[in-house]
Amino acid sequence: MGMTMTQKILARHAGLNVCEEGGLIEASLDLLLGNDITTPPAIDVFEANGWEKVFDQDRIVLVPDHFAPNKDIKSAQQCKRVREFAKKQNITHYYEQGQEAMGVEHVILPDNGLVRPGDCIIGADSHTCTYGALGAFSTGVGSTDLACAMASGQTWFRVPGAIRVELKGEIRPYVSGKDVILHLIGRIGVDGALYRSLEFCGSGIRCLSMADRLTICNMAIECGAKNGIFPVDETTVEYLKARIPGYDEDTSWLTPDEDASYEQTITIDLSTLSPMVAFPHLPSNVHELGSFDTIRIDQVVIGSCTNGRLEDMQKAAAVLKGRKVADGIRAIILPGSQRVYKQCLEQGLLSIFVDAGCVVSAPTCGPCLGGHMGVLAEGERCVSTTNRNFVGRMGHKNSEVYLAGVEVAAASAVLGYIGGPDEIGR
Ligand code: SF4
Repeated sequence: MGMTMTQKILARHAGLNVCEEGGLIEASLDLLLGNDITTPPAIDVFEANGWEKVFDQDRIVLVPDHFAPNKDIKSAQQCKRVREFAKKQNITHYYEQGQEAMGVEHVILPDNGLVRPGDCIIGADSHTCTYGALGAFSTGVGSTDLACAMASGQTWFRVPGAIRVELKGEIRPYVSGKDVILHLIGRIGVDGALYRSLEFCGSGIRCLSMADRLTICNMAIECGAKNGIFPVDETTVEYLKARIPGYDEDTSWLTPDEDASYEQTITIDLSTLSPMVAFPHLPSNVHELGSFDTIRIDQVVIGSCTNGRLEDMQKAAAVLKGRKVADGIRAIILPGSQRVYKQCLEQGLLSIFVDAGCVVSAPTCGPCLGGHMGVLAEGERCVSTTNRNFVGRMGHKNSEVYLAGVEVAAASAVLGYIGGPDEIGR
C-alpha cells in the first residue's frame, strides 16, 4: 500500500513499515515545543504525575513569546514558571527575551536550524504546523499531551488521510504565499481539510521561497488540517545548509509513493492569483483585492509567525520607503525575531519604518492574539499579516481584523484604507 509523505514520517517514527489512514500509532518525537501560555499547565501535569526528568533536554524548546516582554503580573508569573522549569531541567533550547536566537516560536525554530525534513514534531500551539514547509510532520497538541511527551518522548496519533494540493504556474508580483493559502482556505472553508494532511506538490513550488512555504504551512490549521507539508527541493536544502552546519541528509525516502491515496486533488494555478484579503470574522471569508469598495482602517500590523520573517520585512520596507503612514493610522511592525530585528537594522529597514511613521516593536506575538502592543478598541479596523481574524481576536469583540499579505498591509498603512502597492503614488 502506498503512503503519503506524512504517513511515511509517521511510520518511521512508530517503527512500522506501513501506516494506514485511521490507524492509531505511538510515535517517537524529534522535537517538542511550548510557549509562555501553554507550558505552565504542562508543567502542572508533569509535576502532578511525579515525573522528575524530561526525556531529553535537547529535544524540548521553550519560548516565552506570547505575552513577553511581560505585559502584566500574570504574564510575568507565567514566564517565570517556564524560566524556572527550563533551568531546573537544564533545557538546551530555552529562549530568553533579547537573546539573538529569540523571537516568535514558529519564526525561530526553523531559522535556528532545529527543524529537519522527516522530523516528527509536536508543539503546544496550533501553528506548529508551520514546519511542514521543511518536509517535517509537525502539529499542534494540548498542554497535557505536551506534558506526557516531555516525560516519555512519545505521543499517539490517528494517522490522517491526505489532500493533495497541486501548485502550477508562476506567482505574480505582489502575490505571495499568504495569498496562496488564503485562496485555498477560501475555496475549501475553515473545515475543508479537517484532520487531513495537506500535501503540496507540483511545478509551481519552484517559485515559492521558504518564507512563502512557511507562511502557507503556518495557516494549514486555518482550514482544519492536521498538518501541511512540502516536498524537499533545492530551496529547502539551501535553507537548511545555511542553518545546520554540514547538513547533508538523504531525504529521497520522503517522496510520496505513486500509489499513495489522496481523498482529493486541488489544483491552484499560481499565475491566476491576485492579492487576497480575508474579511472578518473567518480566514475563509476571502475577497480579491480590487473586488470591494473602500474600507477605511485604523491600524496595520505587520509581523507574527505568519509574516514576521526577513523577507516580509524587506517587502514592507520596499512599499514604505520614502512614504508616510496616512494620518490617523497606527502602523505596528514586529520583526519576528531578534535576528530579523538585527538584519532590519543592518539593512536600513528600521530607518525606513521609523521615517514612514511606524511603531517598531520587540519580537513578540503581542497584538496577534489581542495580548499587547496594539490591542483594538471597539469599532476599530485593522489590516494584519497574522493568521486569525475571529471575533475579538485582536481586541474588542466589536473590532474587525482583515488578513492580508505584507505588501497589501504596508500599502494600506499609507493609503488609510485597504489597498495594494499599485495604488500608491498614482
Ligand atoms: Fe500564535 Fe499569533 Fe504568536 Fe503566531 S504570532 S504563535 S498565531 S499568537
